[in-house]
Amino acid sequence: MKEPRIDLMRFPGGLSKALTFSYDDGVLQDKRLLAILNRNGLKGTFNLGSAVLGKIERNAFGGAVDISKVAPGEVAELYAGHEVAGHGLFHSSLTGIGSGAALYEIIEDRKRLEDLTGGLVRGFAYPFGVFDEDVKQMLKYAGYEYARIVPTTGTFAIPNDFYEWSGTAHHNDPNLMQLAHDFFEGDKRMAFHPQLFYLWGHAYEFDQHDNWNVIEDFADYAGQFGESTWFATNIEICDYVKSFRKLIYSADASHIYNPTCTTLWLANRFDVYKIEPGETVTIKE
Ligand SMILES: [Zn+2]
Repeated sequence: MKEPRIDLMRFPGGLSKALTFSYDDGVLQDKRLLAILNRNGLKGTFNLGSAVLGKIERNAFGGAVDISKVAPGEVAELYAGHEVAGHGLFHSSLTGIGSGAALYEIIEDRKRLEDLTGGLVRGFAYPFGVFDEDVKQMLKYAGYEYARIVPTTGTFAIPNDFYEWSGTAHHNDPNLMQLAHDFFEGDKRMAFHPQLFYLWGHAYEFDQHDNWNVIEDFADYAGQFGESTWFATNIEICDYVKSFRKLIYSADASHIYNPTCTTLWLANRFDVYKIEPGETVTIKE
């Protein structure tokens, strides 16, 4: 037997890069952020605590920053084309309230967000970034496919454990534009490996720090690379990667079977190819 050839994942269309955003709390500033993303064709995920939607708040940061939430009735239209994800019903710390209340925060938020959007809600961001193994299990039982944590990696890695999904950077990272440049226009040899740029934050922070230019500059720059980058929501990326990980290989890796309902893309040094749902391909030497 010859040495098996290693073919790497490609995103839909054979692309090696994906970009996604994750913004928390459903604050009014999401409207301005969404306008910036939409005009650049970018996609993101918005993590909402459904019980606090519509709440008027100016208390944080000495009353200087408006952290009021969008109204429940606005959710479906405002976030159309993006992902609405769970963030805990009341945004409670899920490890400090007992398992019963934690379960309720998790499942009732999902139910209410599904009622508001008319769609399936399958993503989550941990309130305050707090979680443990029990909370991860609760999310799985409640039908969530992934959950975002707070620490960032500074890399373009794709997570092994989607219930501890780290972003690449928070938007206040002083290296943000350098990271973006490395990602979109950096070493082409690195582009052989699939890469994900994942940016997160809270839209009220742009008011708090008076730095809307940070996200405007980032989005205007990233938006130019739509031909080489998959602009996707968190759940679209999670679903695709999980499907890819279900590919079944023969013992010598010469045959690959796609048991999923998703067209899956791969690449080697010579070409980019796809495997249709239900298809088995033979790898040529
Ligand atoms: Zn939050």
